[in-house]
Amino acid sequence: MQDNFLISLHIRPEGCAFVSFIQPLRDLQEVDGRIRELEQEILDIPERKKQEGARLNSLKKELEIAHNQVTAVQSRIDAAELESQSCREKINDLKKNQAVLKTNKEFQMYNREIKKIEEDIANFDARELAAMDDLIPAKAKSAEIEGRLHREQAVVDEFITELDQRLVEVEQVLEETRKERAEVAKSVDSRKMLYYERLRAKRWPVVVELVDGTVCSGCNLVQPPSVAQMVRRDQGVVVCTMCGRILYMD
Ligand SMILES: [Zn+2]
Repeated sequence: MQDNFLISLHIRPEGCAFVSFIQPLRDLQEVDGRIRELEQEILDIPERKKQEGARLNSLKKELEIAHNQVTAVQSRIDAAELESQSCREKINDLKKNQAVLKTNKEFQMYNREIKKIEEDIANFDARELAAMDDLIPAKAKSAEIEGRLHREQAVVDEFITELDQRLVEVEQVLEETRKERAEVAKSVDSRKMLYYERLRAKRWPVVVELVDGTVCSGCNLVQPPSVAQMVRRDQGVVVCTMCGRILYMD
């Protein structure tokens, strides 16, 4: 079927001035190439926006960890403070009871108990101070990440706005290019168009150069000399014997 197609397209009416047979297809392909790029860009924009969002997400996660660290340190401070407070209350109670004690022995025993609790208080206070030392760098780190997030957010917002603007622009250009294609397609007869469109659904590019007059630049297959001869004449559609792409030579 392909051979019949080639032969039938190859006939040129007698006396016609030479007109490139392939040029209209090449023109069409050039417009289609632009359309493909524009369509691809439209498809890529949501993905690029998603990537930007993901970049912020990792920073948000980092900030969450830093916030949790601040909370953990603050809990250590609060716990030590609470323990210390409770010890002080115990000492107050012991001192109240001490006032009504009857023997000196009991009085001494209470003193020893109070001293022990005072040592605990010193421990809790030391722990609280150490935790307070940790709080400063933890808060600084959290603030640093927060600042970075704000700056990144501004950059991402600006970039996303640019991408949205670009999308509108690309859609407009695409619409114009499709109109241009409709015009260019008028110069391609329906049989050539049918073959071109069928192939375009499977391969790109459709029209390829026969490099050095022998090699299909679509699939790199070396063509028989007869093919090269027909391509050189440029009076019909000549296709690669392997990939079926339409061949041309400058
Ligand atoms: Zn080929």
